Amino acid sequence: MSKGLPETRTDTAMSELVPEPRPKPAVPMKPVGINPNLLGYIGIDTIIEQMRKKTMKTGFDFNIMVVGQSGLGKSTLVNTLFKSQVSRKASSWNREEKIPKTVEIKAIGHVIEEGGVKMKLTVIDTPGFGDQINNENCWEPIEKYINEQYEKFLKEEVNIARKKRIPDTRVHCCLYFISPTGHSVPLEWWQWLSGGGHGGSDTPPPLGPSLRPLDLEFMKHLSKVVNIIPVIAKADTMTLEEKSEFKQRVRKELEVNGIEFYPQKEFDEDLEDKTENDKIRQESMPFAVVGSDKEYQVNGKRVLGRKTPWGIIEVENLNHCEFALLRDFVIRTHLQDLKEVTHNIHYETYRAKRLNDNGGLPPVSVDTEEGHGSNP
Ligand code: GDP
Ligand code: MG
Repeated sequence: MSKGLPETRTDTAMSELVPEPRPKPAVPMKPVGINPNLLGYIGIDTIIEQMRKKTMKTGFDFNIMVVGQSGLGKSTLVNTLFKSQVSRKASSWNREEKIPKTVEIKAIGHVIEEGGVKMKLTVIDTPGFGDQINNENCWEPIEKYINEQYEKFLKEEVNIARKKRIPDTRVHCCLYFISPTGHSVPLEWWQWLSGGGHGGSDTPPPLGPSLRPLDLEFMKHLSKVVNIIPVIAKADTMTLEEKSEFKQRVRKELEVNGIEFYPQKEFDEDLEDKTENDKIRQESMPFAVVGSDKEYQVNGKRVLGRKTPWGIIEVENLNHCEFALLRDFVIRTHLQDLKEVTHNIHYETYRAKRLNDNGGLPPVSVDTEEGHGSNP
């Protein structure tokens, strides 16, 4: 009696496992009206177009800082950047923000529109860096400014009523201006370089420094918090040989001092990145640039240049200087990556440290007013 029941149940369960003829689906399996060749097409590739449309609508922020001693041509280079081809169609300055600091740091915003894409390019000028008699710790106000922007972003992020799109004032890239007046090079070095008369020695003879202690100090401290791109200022004051020799020396000195500039080796994502960036790190860096905001007529074309008694130096002509290389590198090939490294590495380091210092809690909001920030 009672024995039979479980058996019966088991039988029922077993019989449920036997496949039955499937009922016809209520919705037809094959999509109607789609080319049968595209069967299985999901449409993942349309994401690119969706992203493009979104970016076109929202536009994006990009913030560059220029640092270096007075008179090295920072302001001129910034104007060159805006006036050069990438922004020649752009409207005039539309915002000026003054932030009173020990070193007067000034952010100038500029909306550039090209091909329907809007970019809010902000240049942060840092006049007076390294101009004091005692330049000890003169990188501090700059580091403070950079951290204040991270702090602003962090406060917005931890806010309960978070903005849909947090305004990004973080410094994505810092152009560091190196003075072109290198120290004199001993004759033995030239001989070694040209491979003549030295029995093929692998080690070059010693050279005087090309970077000042201040340059090294700044880059040592700041390369941990921001993407630094070193540039040699006023490259028109050097001969071709001097330029290539100076570039090599600067690269060597940065390496010896363990200074990582952008694009940092450790953040290369794949072999393609590595190949492309190695070339930049080993050949292009530091870009030897010339700046000018004056236009001249050359072969019937208007060009940005510097007029000298022996001719016009065209800033966008690659035979004359590397300004166009720098512009293409920063804007045309690495802009998105500069933003990503800023967000994923530099900002993340700051954020983790802040939350850690605060026992894992979000930072307490002190002052989120525009232009003020707080001391982290
Ligand atoms: P800042 O103090 O670093 O902002 O330097 P400025 O942009 O005000 O330039 C200082 C002076 O250097 C001006 O007279 C500029 O015309 C000049 N200058 C700027 N860029 C160059 C350059 O690439 N080559 C040369 N030879 N002079 C330059
Ligand atoms: Mg200036």
